[in-house]
Amino acid sequence: MFGAELNTAQKQAVEAGDGPQLILAGAGSGKTRTVVHRIGHLISQRGVAPHRVLAVTFTNKAAAELKNRLTDMIGDDAGGVVSGTFHAISLRFLRRHADVLGYPRSFQVVDADDQKALIKRLLKTHNIASERLHPSYLLGWIEHCKHAALTPDEAPAHGWNGIDMRKLYHTYQAELKRLERMDFSDLILNVVMLFRKHADVAAALCGRFDYVLVDEYQDTNPAQHEWLMRLSEGHRNLTVVGDDDQSIYGWRGADVSHILDFERIWDGAGIHRLEENYRSTGAILRLANAVIQGNEQRHVKALRATRETGGVPGLKVCNDEYDEARKLGHAIEQWHQHGTPWSEIAVLYRSNRQSLPLEQIFREAGIPYKIIGGVGFFERMEIRDTLAYWTLLNQCGDALHLLRICNKPKRGIGAKGQEQLAAQLAASGMRVGEWLDVVAAGQAGGAAGKIGPLARLLRDLRPNLEQSHDRGLFDVLEQSGYLKSLEAMGEIEAAARLENIRTLQSYIELSLAKGLTAIEFMDRAALLQGTEEMQAGQRDQEDAVVMMSLHRAKGLEFDCVALPGIEEGLLPHQRAVDEGELGISEERRLLYVGITRARDHLLLTTARQRRLFGDTHYPRPSRFIRDVGDDILHRDQQAPVDHSAVGVGIGGNVRHPSFGEGVVMGLEGSGDAIRVTVQFRNAGIKRLMLKYAALQPV
Ligand code: ATP
Ligand code: MG
Repeated sequence: MFGAELNTAQKQAVEAGDGPQLILAGAGSGKTRTVVHRIGHLISQRGVAPHRVLAVTFTNKAAAELKNRLTDMIGDDAGGVVSGTFHAISLRFLRRHADVLGYPRSFQVVDADDQKALIKRLLKTHNIASERLHPSYLLGWIEHCKHAALTPDEAPAHGWNGIDMRKLYHTYQAELKRLERMDFSDLILNVVMLFRKHADVAAALCGRFDYVLVDEYQDTNPAQHEWLMRLSEGHRNLTVVGDDDQSIYGWRGADVSHILDFERIWDGAGIHRLEENYRSTGAILRLANAVIQGNEQRHVKALRATRETGGVPGLKVCNDEYDEARKLGHAIEQWHQHGTPWSEIAVLYRSNRQSLPLEQIFREAGIPYKIIGGVGFFERMEIRDTLAYWTLLNQCGDALHLLRICNKPKRGIGAKGQEQLAAQLAASGMRVGEWLDVVAAGQAGGAAGKIGPLARLLRDLRPNLEQSHDRGLFDVLEQSGYLKSLEAMGEIEAAARLENIRTLQSYIELSLAKGLTAIEFMDRAALLQGTEEMQAGQRDQEDAVVMMSLHRAKGLEFDCVALPGIEEGLLPHQRAVDEGELGISEERRLLYVGITRARDHLLLTTARQRRLFGDTHYPRPSRFIRDVGDDILHRDQQAPVDHSAVGVGIGGNVRHPSFGEGVVMGLEGSGDAIRVTVQFRNAGIKRLMLKYAALQPV
């Protein structure tokens, strides 16, 4: 039954016996499908207990998807399979075993915001100005070490402007530990530490699973690689699937050599190649192949289309990013009119900043959309603040939570005050919850005295939690003055933030109703950070065009895909161009990933002029498509419109008799039919006929 809907090569991979297995194949060839079927096969045909199987996926969402597909295949048994990202699974392990590393099991994961604040504080304590060592450089270097599975002791000596970086890495780790926090990379590294240093725990972890399967293996970094090696070295039942052409996380330390070296590392590994693409039309695949062929260092793989040829993908050259957004909007409406649901349409871009004009135009045109990623739900200020209040209310908060909100709303505690507060807390030797009770009793002076009312509020509201989490949380936000402080941001901004807080509240309610503890909820929130799942204010938007970065699109598929900004500076990104050949190859793979997400229709766009990062650029189309023939990529190029004669230019300030002052965002058309898009300061965005608009340059 698991042979159904599988081709011969897939079937062989699904039914391959024990031992290491590598499935190395191109995009859309059914790698993920093969993993799911292999798990199904292990459980239903070979009698493996579901909870003895571990599946490592690229996102939490992919883990959920895998479970759904398995449930369809084998029924409720699928529930027992353990699946998740490296981070999620590591967190599970560490919740059990972190104590041997000197952390309490209730440690928490530090979010990106607090991590940056911590690094900045650390540099300040060491009197290192940011001109000498920029906080993001220090953080980047530490991350780099952690991705390479190097502890502070193992990190290479690195002096930067006379600063001992390794020492700072040491201090940072010590500070995190003191705060009972781990950062994201620590989750992986600390599991590696368990394996390396604690034989008994290592034995327990290794004995936990009999089969380990990993999707998107091409993007594992050395720390994750070691994690997998050690977890699987006993049983050797490691199945990995991946595509070296889709390795796009080199900048995060991913090392494609792991997949290419698999045979060498795992003696006797079964190698499976899947050569048929089931996803895309022949024409889309032809473009994908033409693009990726430009990379020299690759495993040449055959990838044959199994579907019809379909229409040739198009490239539209647009005047600027607003023109691009309108053209994409138009194409999307056409796709939809021809029967494609909104949710089967995706816009994938290189930089999250590209979403802005798209959003504006889609909103005007009434195209429903949802943005995945960008500033993720759990990275929003109000969400981090609310969670800090909530953990303090639940007495599982720590010093960072307290520091985060001690002056929100303003309580007269500046940077100095925060240092003092942290020192007072440390001197007490108490946990934050206990200490706040002391503060509430009015026995503290200095900065601690200033949070007396907050401490009393937390103490007094705590009993409410037992009746309703919802109420306790809302009361504390209200009575502490936090909600009022949001209002100072303006009505619209405050309303959006309040809406997000309400979304969070119902999410907390729902999770606790399912039996999660407060700490488990915080884990979940931490893992969702910076990833795809929860989005602010978008609860009801199911049938909507999906917008996200190319990096997040890995593994996904859509009927119709639009790729805006296929131009020099964006794809390849300027940073990669500056970096040289390695960076450029990775950008090319990114385009390959984008193209191969499409089943039926694909549209690429470039702009002649683009405002990005505050500057205006006049980019050329991307080098990746420059040499692709017209029979493979259909170019639809209008003559550029000369707008120099009309008196208003893009980016220029203008005044309208009734709408007031604004900035020109776009010009399209020619002659008497020129339309101008203006972002007015008070009247919002308007699209006007230039001829009648009576705009005055100012
Ligand atoms: P990516 O490299 O993008 O992760 P993949 O190799 O994991 O792709 P899948 O997502 O597993 O590919 O499969 C691509 C599409 O092809 C899916 O819609 C899947 O259902 C379909 N497919 C895979 N194998 C077959 C098959 N043997 N018969 C019919 N459809 C198939
Ligand atoms: Mg896949």
